Amino acid sequence: MELRIRNLSKTYANGVVALNDISLTIPTGMFGLLGPNGAGKSTLMRILATLQECDRGSVFFGDLDVLDDKDEVRRLLGYLPQDFGLYPKVTAYEMLDHFAVLKGLSHRARRREVIDGLLQQTNLFDVRNQKLGTFSGGMRQRFGIAQALLGDPRLIIVDEPTAGLDPQERVRFHNLLSDIGDERTVILSTHIVSDVADLCSNMAIINKGELLLTGATQQLIDDISCKIWARFIDKRELSYFQQRHTIISTRLLSGRTLIHAYSDNDPGDGFEEAIGDLEDVYFATIAGRHVAEACD
Ligand code: ADP
Repeated sequence: MELRIRNLSKTYANGVVALNDISLTIPTGMFGLLGPNGAGKSTLMRILATLQECDRGSVFFGDLDVLDDKDEVRRLLGYLPQDFGLYPKVTAYEMLDHFAVLKGLSHRARRREVIDGLLQQTNLFDVRNQKLGTFSGGMRQRFGIAQALLGDPRLIIVDEPTAGLDPQERVRFHNLLSDIGDERTVILSTHIVSDVADLCSNMAIINKGELLLTGATQQLIDDISCKIWARFIDKRELSYFQQRHTIISTRLLSGRTLIHAYSDNDPGDGFEEAIGDLEDVYFATIAGRHVAEACD
């Protein structure tokens, strides 16, 4: 089901404009909301999860008025917040059982069936009787997904879920998210470009409360592919190149400095045509250099 956000704005009491007139359509499947820290992602996620009020705007999930009919939204919502507290002395099974009762799963045998299924799905069945306080970061996040999936939600919101996970756990978590994203609307908020590149067929980039770019991820990559130019430099030459070109990224590759320039035409100066990727889309957009426009 489609989530339609229209003209959503939120200014905090201290004057910070966290969201400025955001309009965004989020289709079924995995949707990546990408932006640096402070962009407004959590504010948007909390408003969608009915935990915070906006100042202006509307949000519809199918026919459901998300800002107005909060009880109904909560029934079909699964939410994994950025920081969630767990009771360290309670086991994974006991905690899920408690949440399941709160979700209205009153029939004991049915509850057990649902919880066992979720524990299997999130690869936590073998540690179900372990106390949550003993869980690693990755296990905690998978547990967070298990609790978010209780009640078979149609809309799932996960806020910065992979920050702090080691590479192996990140892959495991990505696989879990991609499994649940097939028939549901899953919004993944993150500042990690590869989370979106790996998982999300549609995406948006926000910064300083503004929506900068939205579309199908592959299309956005295709649109930038003809505009990215690369070369290795000595790092002492960086300011020379920055003065003459639009440098959107600087990274180290095997100890050498690789820079990417953004240009409609060959910038000369030893640059070679590069294959643009989602990092290029992200950096060029955040730098205010790029708006979606197809290559010829
Ligand atoms: P993100 O999740 O992208 O890091 P946030 O939505 O947390 O962004 O924050 C957006 C902006 O709003 C930031 O400048 C942040 O400092 C500010 N902000 C967030 N929460 C509050 C609050 N409760 N009161 C005042 N300012 C806030």
